[in-house]
Amino acid sequence: MIDLKLERQIELLEILAKGCKKHPAYRAMRKATEKCEECVYIWQARVELNALENDL
Ligand SMILES: [Zn+2]
Repeated sequence: MIDLKLERQIELLEILAKGCKKHPAYRAMRKATEKCEECVYIWQARVELNALENDL
């Protein structure tokens, strides 16, 4: 289970590291505007990552 969690965390970190092509300045420090799907996707990755970290 721990390994699966770690794998998911790495996946999410990669999504965050790549960022949005249209908005390279967006670092998911606050909620994305719903206008850009890619930013919303990154924001969701951030939320899930935080949830995983808090669940350790
Ligand atoms: Zn964007």
